[in-house]
Amino acid sequence: MNVTKRDYYEVLGVGRDVDTTALKSAYKKLALKYHPDRNPNNHEAEEKFKEAAEAYSVLSDPQKRAAYDRYGHRGLQGMGAGQGFDPNAFADFSDILGDLFGFGDLFGSGGRRSRNHVQRGEDLRYDIEINLEDTLRGLSVDIQVPRLELCTRCQGTGAEKNDGIVTCPMCHGRGEVIYQQSFLQIRRTCNQCSGRGQIIRRPCTQCRGERYLKNEKKLKVNIPPGVDTGTRLRLSGEGQPGGNGGQPGDLYVVVKVKEHPIFERQGEDLHCAIPVNVAQAALGTQVDLLTFDGLETVKIPEGTQSGVEVRLRNRGVPRLQGSGRGDMIVHIDVRVPSKLTREQRRLFESLRETLPAENEPHEKGIMDKVKDYFM
Ligand SMILES: [Zn+2]
Ligand SMILES: [Zn+2]
Repeated sequence: MNVTKRDYYEVLGVGRDVDTTALKSAYKKLALKYHPDRNPNNHEAEEKFKEAAEAYSVLSDPQKRAAYDRYGHRGLQGMGAGQGFDPNAFADFSDILGDLFGFGDLFGSGGRRSRNHVQRGEDLRYDIEINLEDTLRGLSVDIQVPRLELCTRCQGTGAEKNDGIVTCPMCHGRGEVIYQQSFLQIRRTCNQCSGRGQIIRRPCTQCRGERYLKNEKKLKVNIPPGVDTGTRLRLSGEGQPGGNGGQPGDLYVVVKVKEHPIFERQGEDLHCAIPVNVAQAALGTQVDLLTFDGLETVKIPEGTQSGVEVRLRNRGVPRLQGSGRGDMIVHIDVRVPSKLTREQRRLFESLRETLPAENEPHEKGIMDKVKDYFM
């Protein structure tokens, strides 16, 4: 060859100490200016374009650049660089020009890979509603989860057994086609087979080539004691099947606890309210409360005020993590009779004579606490 090669730095119009960013932008400017799409049938522009691409492919590679800095063009011999325009090297520049000319697509990068790529199956979600009492003991439930199953007839190939699948005639199984756009060699994902390299000639009669079948999978779910609304239970590998031999996804069972007419859960504690009349509160009493553990006797000492809490230890919800249970908290609700018989009125009147009048306003407190739960 009698062609004297120009200096790469000169080609790109940059100094010898140029950094990566400036190098890239200098190259991009030239590549855009001389791009064949903008200069159809312009041989000079084509040469400039190739020259800039070659210069950039060398200077953007630290190893090649070091060799070039020391020995010039000769230093690149045997390094697969500086041998003129290499469309494969050019392909690496798609990140620079991709957005402007759509090279990302033309080079088909990724298209084929993603099609045949091993893919993990999708995760699934199943919502389940349980009663409050079930959260104390836990339970086992049978659920039916709609999900896809690999077709049993074709084992997920989508084709009938004999001659069902053939090598794609367009790309000969490569999954991509190479064609020439002006002087550029461009690889593109094969349209015919979408990059698979194979096409289904006789679709499976069971799944009609879809490879998967809709199915309802029966599963037993063990719900441990202590779960609450929002608890997620993971059933590993029970989600959608993976693609191309990939792992299946997981199934998440999401718990919702139904409201209970009497008990309300707060953390691991259960709350409820017991109404007592004014005489019971003043004299003290015992009330039977039917809890999830059976009948419990709640002792209300004499002189109990409205809003007082009685705590029954270990009668709450079991802790999901850790051991033990929360408490049952009984809020005492003192009720004053709204209608009195003549006899009751007489008794209250004589009571009034003996009781001190306590009419000073007092601090907020107990009543507000009760309201939070029950009003
Ligand atoms: Zn099938
Ligand atoms: Zn093809």
